[in-house]
Amino acid sequence: MNVYADNAATTAMSETALNTMIPLLKTGYGNASSLYGVGQTAKEYLENARKTVADCLGAKPNEIYFTSGGSEADNQALLSAAMIGKRKGKTQIISTKFEHHAVLHSLDRLKTMGFDIVLLDVNSDGIVRPEQVAEAITDNTCLVSVMYANNEIGTIQPIREIGKICREKGVIFHTDAVQAAGHIPVNVADDNIDMLSVSAHKFHGPKGVGVLYAKTGIRLTNLIEGGAQERGKRAGTENVPGICAMAAALKEACDNMEENSKKVSAIRDRVIDGLSEIPHSRLNGARSPRLPGNVNFCFEGIEGESILLKLDDLGIQASSGSACTSGSLDPSHVLLAIGVPHEIAHGSLRLTFCETNTLEQADYVVKSVKEVVNYLRNMSPVWRDLETGVAKHII
Ligand SMILES: *Cc1c(COP(=O)(O)O)cnc(C)c1O
Repeated sequence: MNVYADNAATTAMSETALNTMIPLLKTGYGNASSLYGVGQTAKEYLENARKTVADCLGAKPNEIYFTSGGSEADNQALLSAAMIGKRKGKTQIISTKFEHHAVLHSLDRLKTMGFDIVLLDVNSDGIVRPEQVAEAITDNTCLVSVMYANNEIGTIQPIREIGKICREKGVIFHTDAVQAAGHIPVNVADDNIDMLSVSAHKFHGPKGVGVLYAKTGIRLTNLIEGGAQERGKRAGTENVPGICAMAAALKEACDNMEENSKKVSAIRDRVIDGLSEIPHSRLNGARSPRLPGNVNFCFEGIEGESILLKLDDLGIQASSGSACTSGSLDPSHVLLAIGVPHEIAHGSLRLTFCETNTLEQADYVVKSVKEVVNYLRNMSPVWRDLETGVAKHII
């Protein structure tokens, strides 16, 4: 059996997205800035996609900027809010310890530019409380950035409440909604969001396409200078087929959200229940509120990387930590942020499901992970020490 269970890293394109994109690669090749027919047709496709995306997010079309993905949207959002702050003499930025690296590394850069970065702690449930944000905001704060849902442990943040606090205090609020959009309800108006990042390939759209939403009145700073595309805020000839495929994928995901969420959470719950039977294991992050497709476990005494290799042999694609950090032997910054000790943070496994997975696959995954954990523990010196009492179990 083959089971793709790494949907938080990327998803396969849906039929709907493919059926939108492939014909457009043939016929929608016009440059949306050109005045002749094919150019103007491309422009129409582009603006229809902008309206579709805006509708899905509760935004206005002229608040939607197309980017090359979630990373670019995060970078531009943070830089823009920082520049707005700087013009007003405000230099403090509040974010959290468990953000995606697109946010954390942008903040590192802003720090070298003289901004004061405050990273909030995340509790052991994987949640940032609105009160923490309220307490951290000062007269010098120009931006709060808290992710909508975490990409490693799937925990969903109290975004509406955090947004409300920021709005009351007149601070710009950005959220990286890359894992949330298309999976759980996201509405920039209801959720008091000023800026938001989205990436197409996390909801069955193509890679290399994303969205930055910026509320009317927020002046963006360009990352890319050049032509006047995206109202002068993001130069470069638009990827019309990719953008249209993203819009189609997002609309499909939003239209089917309830049904998909029900199906995917049943798979998630079956896997969580199954893996919880493994001794000395723990689910990372609260069981609820959690993304419908996310399972993240630690198993004592073994390495995440070895679990992945063995699962790959059994036809299961999963990840340890996030795709961006795998390949390094450092434990995940997310697990460390929620207080998982170093020793067990190394033994983490993330399985992320989507609506094309099945309950039968869930059973196969549980059976396979149990076998693999047993096998690896049997040859692990660390495990032997734990079992013989030389070392103490942590979980
Ligand atoms: C995947 C991801 C990103 C990066 O998006 P890309 O389109 O791959 O650049 C940013 N933030 C989160 C939370 C993600 O999961």
